[in-house]
Amino acid sequence: MNPFADITSPIHITSTYEVSWEQAHALLNDADAAPFYARYGNPTLAAVETAMVRLCGGGLDGVEALVVASGMAAISLLPFALLQPGDEIIATDSLYGGSANLLTFAEKWGITTKWVPCSLDGAEAQLSPRTRLLYVESPANPLNRLVPFERAVTFARSNGLYSVIDATLAPPPLQYALKAGFDIELHSATKMLNGHSDLLAGVLVARRGLIQKLRAMHRVMGAVLDARAAAELLRGMQTLPLRAGAISTAALNVAHWLEDQTGVTRVHYPGLESHPDHSLARRQMNGGGPIVAFDLQVNTEAAARLFVEALGLVRHAPSLGGPESLVSYPPLSSHAQWSGERLADAGIKPGTLRLSVGLEPANEIIIDLKRGLAAVSRYSP
Ligand code: PLP
Repeated sequence: MNPFADITSPIHITSTYEVSWEQAHALLNDADAAPFYARYGNPTLAAVETAMVRLCGGGLDGVEALVVASGMAAISLLPFALLQPGDEIIATDSLYGGSANLLTFAEKWGITTKWVPCSLDGAEAQLSPRTRLLYVESPANPLNRLVPFERAVTFARSNGLYSVIDATLAPPPLQYALKAGFDIELHSATKMLNGHSDLLAGVLVARRGLIQKLRAMHRVMGAVLDARAAAELLRGMQTLPLRAGAISTAALNVAHWLEDQTGVTRVHYPGLESHPDHSLARRQMNGGGPIVAFDLQVNTEAAARLFVEALGLVRHAPSLGGPESLVSYPPLSSHAQWSGERLADAGIKPGTLRLSVGLEPANEIIIDLKRGLAAVSRYSP
């Protein structure tokens, strides 16, 4: 027996593994045979994948995960692994800007996207014989619009589409998208899953047959996570349920406070009764996650800048889901490269800011936000 039965996962730092002649032959025919090269597999990454399946909830027989080097690496596997030129995607129009940009790039490869609202109203009318995949993000970055899980899953199943959800903003236990019936749940693990703002990673979870297709494409596309980062990600994921609960409670407090401020016209948080998807959030979520977006009454970029530059505790940076609260301006970060018209269609106003609530006490965050609002109130355009 191995006297060193590690409680944590050892970090396997190697680019290749010694193999016998028989193992090399076995690999020709069996994708699951012990790999001889780290692009094909690494035990530390496998430990993350096992932990991810466990996080997605019990009772998921035959489900596996695939960890990759970033959230975008996970998303870009989808068209390459699952689609052909000429195929069509139906996607909800409220998406992280990078994902929407990727779908625009996919047009170069002959894959077109038809856009529908998060409610999926009118989705049937967008179907064609070449529609293969429904792509949604819920909650959607940055305004937290939600996609009705049941409707999405039923629509995809009854039309023979892969159903894919980007659940980055609310990983388990905040919602259980795979259990709700989605074929593929994916995450930018850079965000809540890792939770410490110190690495990039992505993960996809699906039934085994689909993960095998995605893994086969991943092996040749090669966006492999480093084993050291995988070990850190595993550590971060261990505290996800605790962090997700604490952050959601603080975010709701901050959202309630913002809603009472005259300098703010609207707060976009699914835990608020004023949010258009609040009743959906009560049905399919167990907490609203870290993102609180809000519209300043002075609806200009100049006001947004004054607000951000008056803050001390909350720093100006584009990521989310870390221990520190961050604020970002979507047209300069998550939705850079979007035209003014597209931003307006998505409900992102010149005075919209996105706050990612961290693990600081909510009252300290509120004290800081007061500074931002005071700076804007002194400003006369
Ligand atoms: N999906 C969502 C909802 C995101 O917010 C982001 C990044 O902000 C991504 C995907 C991309 O993830 P990554 O930056 O890890 O590539």
